Amino acid sequence: MPVHETRDLLDPEARSDSVLQVIRALMCRSGLRTELARRTGLSIASVSTAVQRLLDDGIAHGGKKEAVALRPVTGVAVGIQVGARHVTVAARLPHWPREQVRLVSLGQGLRDGAAWIDAAADAVAGLAGSIGRGPADLATVGLAVPWPVDPRDLSPSPPSPWFAAPDLHRRLSARFGEVFGEVFGEVKVVVDADARLGALNEQTYHHPYETLLYVEIAEHVLGGLVVGPRMVRGALGRAGSVGHQVVEPGGLDCWCGKRGCLERYISVPAVLEGVYVSLRARGEEPPASVGALIDRARDGDPDCRWALTAAAKRLARALRESAATLETQAVVLGGPLAPGLRLVAAECEQELRRSAWTRHLELRFAQPDAAAHGALILGLIGHLR
Ligand SMILES: [Zn+2]
Repeated sequence: MPVHETRDLLDPEARSDSVLQVIRALMCRSGLRTELARRTGLSIASVSTAVQRLLDDGIAHGGKKEAVALRPVTGVAVGIQVGARHVTVAARLPHWPREQVRLVSLGQGLRDGAAWIDAAADAVAGLAGSIGRGPADLATVGLAVPWPVDPRDLSPSPPSPWFAAPDLHRRLSARFGEVFGEVFGEVKVVVDADARLGALNEQTYHHPYETLLYVEIAEHVLGGLVVGPRMVRGALGRAGSVGHQVVEPGGLDCWCGKRGCLERYISVPAVLEGVYVSLRARGEEPPASVGALIDRARDGDPDCRWALTAAAKRLARALRESAATLETQAVVLGGPLAPGLRLVAAECEQELRRSAWTRHLELRFAQPDAAAHGALILGLIGHLR
């Protein structure tokens, strides 16, 4: 049986829309026909027709009551998450399960200038070389960025402190074109906000909640919102921006123009600053990074622990406020502060239980590389519905 090429399978000219959607869904994850219907938004009848076509063409395998899976394909799927001080690259072949994803972490990010682009391209070439047919064996690339993305032109959605940031997906695409273009032609890079891609990762690989809010807590606090089978984007790509829910009326000025926004109190820089002040007052050396802060809280440092508890309580307050509109079923916390909030999850849950709006709310914690996995899925599906 011939081995299919991922790029050929994803060619929109070659197949009907529903068949293409089922191929994309299978590349994300194998599943029963009912699950494929849920993930694609197609009817069971359409999914069954599309699956039969893929079975006949030798693209997929699986019986009537079994999970349908993709037969082995060539071409590497890549996801890249870029943050202020780090980059994570995820890669796998489209028929591989999530557990087989290869990950590479780079210790530089947006705060270190443009050097991360070359480093990411090198990491991608290394991964493609080890799991694909060579360093240029690239099929799809998705990029997770730490700002909301305007759906009209994929630029940072205003107002954003990163608004002056260049169109990273185009720059990455150009860089990949230089490295890989001779072999495979243009390499299109698809982009979205890290919180939305964290939510996509959650919905694809873990629990399919009816309403889910994914909160990425890093330099900024972004939200990704899922309602029913849909990722809600919002008019300018900012739906679910819980970071700008007011938690301290008349509080600190925020760059968004409001006062007392959650982000001003629980972003990584805000939490580090709070601990810096209290530890200096105690005459002690403050932690240099969020990882060090979390380690010290785990070891019982009262100021570090208190900073995390205060952040968790403010987050719970913001969730209580937003829950009245969304009636969110689950909240998933991701980003570098999430492991710290996990230490004080009981305090956060206690705050949530104080309100009828959030008493039922399930609080979960994402894996650290959730958005990189989400970016890989984004590359495969092309764009978020
Ligand atoms: Zn704000």
